Amino acid sequence: MNDFLDQDVMYLLGVGPKKVQVLNKEAKIYTLADLLYFFPYKYIDKSKFYSVAELQPDMSQVQIVGIIKSIQEIGEGRRKRLSAIFTDGTGTIELVWFKGAKWIKSNLITNKRIIVFGKPTLFNGSFNMAHPEIEPFDEEKAKKVNTFEGAYLTTEKMKNSFITSKTINTLQKNLFREVFAKIQETLPEQIIKKYKLLSLKQALLNIHFPKNQQFLQLAEFRLKFEELFIIQLALLRKNRLNKKTIASHKLEHVGDYFNQFYHKCLPFELTNAQKRVFKEIRYDCNTGMQMNRLLQGDVGSGKTMIALMSMLLSVDNNLQAAIMAPTEILATQHYASICEMTEGLDINIGLLTGSTRAKQRRILHEQLTSGEMHILIGTHALIEDTVQFKNLGMVIIDEQHRFGVIQRARLWKKNRITPHVLVMTATPIPRTLAMTLYGDLDVSTIDELPPGRKPIKTIHFTDAQRLRVFGFMREEIEKGRQVYVVYPLIKESEKLDFKDLEDGYESITRAFPLPQYQVSIVHGKMKPKDKDYEMQRFVKGETHIMVATTVIEVGVNVPNASVMIIESAERFGLSQLHQLRGRVGRGAEQSFCVLMTSNKLSNESRLRMETMVRTNDGFDISEVDLKLRGPGDLDGTAQSGVGFDLKIANLGKDSQILQLARECATEIIDDDPMLQKEENRILFQKMAKNERKKINLSQIS
Ligand code: ADP
Ligand code: MG
Repeated sequence: MNDFLDQDVMYLLGVGPKKVQVLNKEAKIYTLADLLYFFPYKYIDKSKFYSVAELQPDMSQVQIVGIIKSIQEIGEGRRKRLSAIFTDGTGTIELVWFKGAKWIKSNLITNKRIIVFGKPTLFNGSFNMAHPEIEPFDEEKAKKVNTFEGAYLTTEKMKNSFITSKTINTLQKNLFREVFAKIQETLPEQIIKKYKLLSLKQALLNIHFPKNQQFLQLAEFRLKFEELFIIQLALLRKNRLNKKTIASHKLEHVGDYFNQFYHKCLPFELTNAQKRVFKEIRYDCNTGMQMNRLLQGDVGSGKTMIALMSMLLSVDNNLQAAIMAPTEILATQHYASICEMTEGLDINIGLLTGSTRAKQRRILHEQLTSGEMHILIGTHALIEDTVQFKNLGMVIIDEQHRFGVIQRARLWKKNRITPHVLVMTATPIPRTLAMTLYGDLDVSTIDELPPGRKPIKTIHFTDAQRLRVFGFMREEIEKGRQVYVVYPLIKESEKLDFKDLEDGYESITRAFPLPQYQVSIVHGKMKPKDKDYEMQRFVKGETHIMVATTVIEVGVNVPNASVMIIESAERFGLSQLHQLRGRVGRGAEQSFCVLMTSNKLSNESRLRMETMVRTNDGFDISEVDLKLRGPGDLDGTAQSGVGFDLKIANLGKDSQILQLARECATEIIDDDPMLQKEENRILFQKMAKNERKKINLSQIS
């Protein structure tokens, strides 16, 4: 392997003792390898002129010759932008400036040949270029320019120590002179062939000194592929090893509890997706090894039923089961609906939350240690150390994205024998992200909603149309429906949000006066008891309107509520909007979701509203979300502490490469789980080396 690259960078020609310190501190470059993998962040391609027709989404900066046909200022205030339509005869692109519009406008001339230089970005089917460089076209000069170069990111401190992008470029040249001949391939030959990859040597050379655009793209592909492939390989290997080592209860009996429930209590036919998923769970739990499964399913897809059946399976095998929910409201609701569904079964179900009284708590603790209590439902209170089980066989974690990973781990450490673990999430995680985050979990997906659900209609209104919205609410209430009105609650401006909520409540009670209309209100500052009381009034249909903050976001189930009004919808993220919308559409009636926003929206907010109006598919939505925000920002991933140090790949943008890398890794591991075959030797060595480096993948399981 390329161990010689582990040499200290100080021995490289051109790196003196002062520069070493700055490279260490500012760019984390310690070894030759660090320098070699310090890639340009963009490329300056003045080697040729491109035509608009030739543009592709993954190109770096390019130059085009053409003319500006028209110039226009769009938008107002801080959202103002300058837009110019540019054409070269093969097509048109939009040039945009968000800053300095006035100055630039005065310098732009229409219908005169110019050179524009910038990165083309594909948006809504056509290309635009933000803040391009512009110069007049000059036939003679254009012939002479002939460069295609990487530009490296440098900090102020680096520049002050005379380490500029140019300096790095020179260092890279020195480095290549010394090491190029010695660089060995790090991927097996059959993979290189199968995926038509550049050799490592060529990829590294072309990422720093691209021969042309095409070679640059090939180099990027090779390096991204390898980066993602190695992560997938490590995760899959760990997955296999886990399966071998962690023993758990064998849930082989399907007994009275399950059968009675299935044949007598089940109020509906399971969907095919539910059946398939439950089969997967049963299979997993019957191997003698621990189940570690992530169950994904869109809002309303019926995950609770899967949870209940899994718990009954555990009880049938003389083991206890527990389900943990992120909020008290949700835990209480699970408790109520699970008690109702299991009526007639001789089964003990307990509820434990932050507001369970000490006396009741003592009784619960006793029944848990004696084994009398079969199923425990609760919140975080469940993982306090005082809660001990006699024999816990199955742990279910609902709305996984709400919990940190550490809490997940604590629950199952309580027991001598590790229980099976099922984590459920309704924040559908895009496949690509799930693969990376949960590469070592098995993933089941409920991809089908129960029959008879009418797709929710989503409408976007601005504040100016509020009276129309009130009118619409009245009509629906007249028909016997109930309505949610939700306000955002974001911590930093809690006071302000609270005022929004109070004002909103006031205007609604004015528009919907007693005694004809009953309005509930629920927010985070209320006591759990009062919250529950208000919630129950709405559940029972005693109130028409529920005014709430996002406390109702997760899991609440009121089938008769068919209208969801989301206030200041632009302040919510896509996945949260989708969660909220999922509160309606649970009954047989046509449901509606109304997104209220101000009429000034940023491009991104507008895209979010358009996405919500366009689709009900949570997976579709989360793909858009991932593209908009990047993976680090998605619900849950931030707290899950997954920080893959990706040097070149991007989880949001490179999902296709990730897919290939995943397939490739799966094939290798299926064929050679321990990587013992001769052809996989280099992979084995690479894994071993990474483990020595303590790339701590364990933190994410
Ligand atoms: P989620 O996946 O969001 O947790 P729930 O488990 O709360 O969804 O289920 C939503 C609603 O759908 C509940 O009222 C539940 O009783 C109902 N439901 C679940 N499975 C089915 C099914 N197979 N047929 C009809 N209704 C179902
Ligand atoms: Mg649920």
